[in-house]
Amino acid sequence: MNSENFHDSLNEYNEKMQCVGDIVLNLDYWDCECENNYIHPIEQQVCKKCDSTREDSPSSRENEVKHYVHRNLP
Ligand SMILES: [Zn+2]
Repeated sequence: MNSENFHDSLNEYNEKMQCVGDIVLNLDYWDCECENNYIHPIEQQVCKKCDSTREDSPSSRENEVKHYVHRNLP
């Protein structure tokens, strides 16, 4: 595993990605605690279903954003 510090870059949608070890996060989205449709854009402050807030939630994973938001299926 590459132990160098994370670095930031943009994906093809001009969204900010952050690489942490083997994990690539998309900083333009965050995950709430719902089982489905848990990816929210950064403009959304809170999930009305589970009351998760953006501040207290982790960033979404890039591969999940691609899959569920952009429908960029492999
Ligand atoms: Zn939710």
